[in-house]
Amino acid sequence: MAAIVISEFMDEDAIKRILGGLDVIYDQTLVERRAALLALLADVPALIVRNRTQVDAELLAKAPKLKAVGRLGVGLDNIDMAACRARGIAVYPATGANDVSVVEYVIGTMLSLLRGAFAATGEVIDGQWPRTKLLGREASAKQLGIIGFGAIGRKVGGAAVALGMRVVAYDPYMPEADRIWGSEPADLDALLRGSDVVSLHVPLTAGTKNLLDRAAIARMKRGAILINAARGGVLDEAAVADALRTGALGGAALDVFEQEPLSKARAQVFAGCPNLILTPHIAGLTHESNVRVSTMVAEKIRDHLARGR
Ligand code: NAD
Repeated sequence: MAAIVISEFMDEDAIKRILGGLDVIYDQTLVERRAALLALLADVPALIVRNRTQVDAELLAKAPKLKAVGRLGVGLDNIDMAACRARGIAVYPATGANDVSVVEYVIGTMLSLLRGAFAATGEVIDGQWPRTKLLGREASAKQLGIIGFGAIGRKVGGAAVALGMRVVAYDPYMPEADRIWGSEPADLDALLRGSDVVSLHVPLTAGTKNLLDRAAIARMKRGAILINAARGGVLDEAAVADALRTGALGGAALDVFEQEPLSKARAQVFAGCPNLILTPHIAGLTHESNVRVSTMVAEKIRDHLARGR
């Protein structure tokens, strides 16, 4: 009988180092093979997932002995938290372990989209010299609007201040005392109308679903850059694509989507959009963060099992 089932990819060294003495089933294909995963869970006290394994009522019913769930990341929208609480199942996210990777993704895509010059390789190899076409923008002295001023939003704000940006933040739950140096609170409307770059850092909840709908996107400053490395479903993807095509938005980076993986058919909504970066939910994923996230979650699950609860 396995003590731990791991259904998505994890740093294998962390598994060996920290969970070495335990009976572990590590099969990252289980996330694609739901029936096989459910069949393994009858006697298992611990399950480790990333963001694609749905820990829902069906899974919990097949795992009557489950005591702990490790989440290799921070968003908990794939886990039925109320059901876990009701069953006394502990859920361990990797809080803080991938923040740096997300922050660097946001700053990197922001600078790249503002500058708009890094896709010229083909033209340069082709002997063209498109200097005037590639007159980009600086980040310095621009306004960055951060929606969701939690752990990641604040670190993005700190990095942007270091670049000389003015940072405003919208977060209805932000305590007065928690404002970082250099940032100012703003209501959502003022943030959208005044920001040159808008970056989302909210969890997906009933309150944030479609937060940036078509009307909100239409209120953004002309030519603004929009970045979503938070969760799919918090913005209207078709409205972003339309705004890029008309030039209402000057660029966008989307790492997360309402449907993941994004199917080829659904991805066509973005066909022909200029200055658009699409990535497959990797903002928080680097070699370094994978080690940190895997180590943190493995230690929490090992310690939970050692306590015998
Ligand atoms: P956090 O809980 O520290 O911060 C979230 C903030 O959002 C909180 O301050 C909260 O008050 C605020 N918020 C909640 N509802 C809001 C609303 N309606 N309007 C504005 N603000 C609201 O979480 P975090 O660690 O900063 O992570 C933020 C999100 O980023 C996660 O929930 C996760 O979904 C996402 N994330 C994505 C990746 C990736 O790889 N793309 C990696 C890590 C995290």
